[in-house]
Amino acid sequence: MTFLAYRVEEFEEGMQANWQECSVEHLPEGDVLIEVHYSSLNYKDALSASGNKGVTRAFPHTPGIDAAGVVLDSSNAKFKPGDEVVVFGYDLGMNTAGGFGQQIRVPANWVLNKPATLGFAESMSWGTAGFTAALSIQKLERAGIKPENGAVVVTGASGGVGSVAVALLAKLGYEVIAVSGKAEQTGFLKSLGAKQVIGREEIMAAKGKAMAKPLYQAAVDTVGGNMVAALIPQIQPEGAVTTCGMISGIKFEASVFPFILRGISLLGVDSVEIRLEEKQNILNKVATEWALPLESQTTEIGRGQLSEVLAKILAGQGVGRYRLNLNKE
Ligand code: NDP
Repeated sequence: MTFLAYRVEEFEEGMQANWQECSVEHLPEGDVLIEVHYSSLNYKDALSASGNKGVTRAFPHTPGIDAAGVVLDSSNAKFKPGDEVVVFGYDLGMNTAGGFGQQIRVPANWVLNKPATLGFAESMSWGTAGFTAALSIQKLERAGIKPENGAVVVTGASGGVGSVAVALLAKLGYEVIAVSGKAEQTGFLKSLGAKQVIGREEIMAAKGKAMAKPLYQAAVDTVGGNMVAALIPQIQPEGAVTTCGMISGIKFEASVFPFILRGISLLGVDSVEIRLEEKQNILNKVATEWALPLESQTTEIGRGQLSEVLAKILAGQGVGRYRLNLNKE
């Protein structure tokens, strides 16, 4: 039985990608063979599809760091044909053929049980970006951040991680300040629950300062680089900043003053390599107490639109979440 997979190939003139007929022999060894119904689009997928060797070392390759579907075959007793499952992170879509294929084969210790209250499509509206937003907020709450203690800033707010963070923080009762380079998305961000939408330059005004007016209780940073450095001096005493991304750079220079004079915490967020139990916990949490109506901020695409939307995400022009329906042309 053949299936379709989005294969990215490297040629002298550059990277090219198209949907190709593949068979199970093309898949890597693994315990669990899964028929993928939905995947989602993330910044890392855009990097992989563009030939970024920091993400994917060798081509041809099928990207897709997220997958939701049904077990077809399993050599591990934990899973049986028909089980509904979700896989995100670890090496999926990086150097292991990923969710932009109608089938994947992965180790059993990458596979999560899909909660019954979360549909396949819905689970991929969350996807890695959404789970990372949820993990960021969980870290802030574990660090003592509370809705009644002040506003929380979200950077890269119109993007995948940012838009879910805005919606989840608003649901939990936080006053959310969305930071976006897309003034035209102000209405969208307010519809997700942002109280205020400000430009990137407003945060970046504190770049290079050791201390600045402490305007915010906390921040969910999704873009990294100098944005992190500019946020830290604007956080209230005992506040915290989470950081997960690198779109605006991988380095920053900051003063120790906010850490030693205001007790600020800088919290790194990784959703890729964390233990399977932690992934299952966050998946269960977004299916129950942290459930969100993400449909309004998700664009579902078919196979034919994948290249175009990946290019948009790579250019920083994505808005909200993008879900791939593997069975839609
Ligand atoms: P998206 O591309 O969906 O969104 C990123 C957003 O960042 C853009 O929409 C834009 O929002 C903003 N942005 C773009 N370019 C710049 C720039 N030069 N300076 C400042 N802001 C910019 O990406 P995701 O939300 O999916 O991912 C965000 C980051 O988080 C990525 O680096 C990704 O690799 C990382 N990530 C890390 C994970 C982990 O486990 N650590 C897991 C998931 C993602 P706006 O226009 O609104 O400002």
